[in-house]
Amino acid sequence: MSETPREDFRAAAHATADLVADYLGGVAERPVWQPTGEAARERLLTAPLPAAGRPLEELPAALSTEVMPYPMGNGHPRFFGWVNSAPAPAGVLATLAAAAINPSSAGGDHADVHLERAVVRWIAELVGFPHEPGAGILTSGTSMATILCLAAARERAARRAGWDVRADGLAGMPPLVAYATGETHSCVRKAAELLGLGSRRLRTVPTDADGHLDVAALRRAVAADRAEGLLPFLVAASAGTVNTGAVDPLDAVADLCAEEGLWLHVDGAYGAFGVLDPEIAHRYAGMERADSLALDPHKWLGVPVDCGCALVRDAAGLRATFSLVPPYLRDEQAGGLGWFSEYGMEQTRPFRSLKVWATIAHRGRDGIAADIARCTALARHLGALVEQDPELEPAAPVETSIVAFRHRAPGLSDEDVDAVNRDLPAAVQRRGRAFVTGTVLDGREALRACLLNAATTEQDLEVLLAEVRAAAAELVAERRRG
Ligand SMILES: *Cc1c(COP(=O)(O)O)cnc(C)c1O
Repeated sequence: MSETPREDFRAAAHATADLVADYLGGVAERPVWQPTGEAARERLLTAPLPAAGRPLEELPAALSTEVMPYPMGNGHPRFFGWVNSAPAPAGVLATLAAAAINPSSAGGDHADVHLERAVVRWIAELVGFPHEPGAGILTSGTSMATILCLAAARERAARRAGWDVRADGLAGMPPLVAYATGETHSCVRKAAELLGLGSRRLRTVPTDADGHLDVAALRRAVAADRAEGLLPFLVAASAGTVNTGAVDPLDAVADLCAEEGLWLHVDGAYGAFGVLDPEIAHRYAGMERADSLALDPHKWLGVPVDCGCALVRDAAGLRATFSLVPPYLRDEQAGGLGWFSEYGMEQTRPFRSLKVWATIAHRGRDGIAADIARCTALARHLGALVEQDPELEPAAPVETSIVAFRHRAPGLSDEDVDAVNRDLPAAVQRRGRAFVTGTVLDGREALRACLLNAATTEQDLEVLLAEVRAAAAELVAERRRG
């Protein structure tokens, strides 16, 4: 960089800005997604290591021809796959500035460090979670946030049992037991395995017919484990499951956790921001009682990837889980909160807070709440369209902004219906006009459309269903031909 004349950079930066503006402005006119194609894939995969460099001014054009024509598709108003949002434009701009400033947001007295404290507080305020300084940190995503939260839970449980888990590990202490459901995201199991808890001791608590944690069954499971001499310590509940957007009965789970002295962790990766919509806020009652809440600004908030966030009730507990700085050496700057590396796994850390700051600064709380409400309204509308459609049937109630549904052609066996639904997402995707993904609910194949983009229109929803019907017609015809 130091060798690059400043005017070179300015010209390339302007060219890049134009490219990005055209890209974002033209998203809706392009196919949602298309296969990269053999030739382009080979070019990307086998690109040789360049011996000599190219001038900066050549790179925007290369970016525009070699990379940008082959996007994942999120960003398009008819992308409904998984939980991947369109990037907030303010966040896109902030990404460039953050890279230019290029701090390590580890600690010290620079803007990025203070800004992270502020945006973590903003996030807590947005979702109505109590916040004391230090009681939260930005992460790469909810997978990492979950590791931090479960580690803090494990630390507390061990300490209460008179055990120093950081020094002695888990061997020798009464076995810890955690609880989740079959609808809980796999990141909870990954974290449990990584932390040495063992996936066998992450119990799968039954759910009701709509995928909500069954609190009576949880109570029985905890009692049975105690009777065995095991140490129940954590319940992982969901504020918006990835399959259907179901929100667990958080208040009732929080009651049980309080009675039993269990750590309540809530996975709000996808759904936590749904609490901003007054129409569905009641479903989230009790979320504010959690000991930890993991959530993803890079999902419903539209902050460009990556940005997750771990919020905890007890800042000192999180610090005690990760800090390797003896208390007498702790940096007392910035209110004595110390370095972010004392609260998590990362040492050198990116300037994530700038894109969060920009995204929230641009839309404000009211704009964000309006976008969220728009998405849940679109989801309810899509749910109604599915119900009215003789070829389609709902697979779960619409609680937040995910719509799970199935295609059901008359006269096909259950097996064939399942096969059609399994093949449907890829068939819809290949057509290029809408992008939807699938899942399995109660052992049966289903499609799920996740609404995260406030620019999506009612007409886009009609297109989605028309595409599903058209793709299904071909698959059904194949089945009937045998
Ligand atoms: C996306 C998601 C996760 C995982 O979060 P990452 O940011 O991908 O690490 C966990 N839980 C739910 C409900 C999710 O939607």
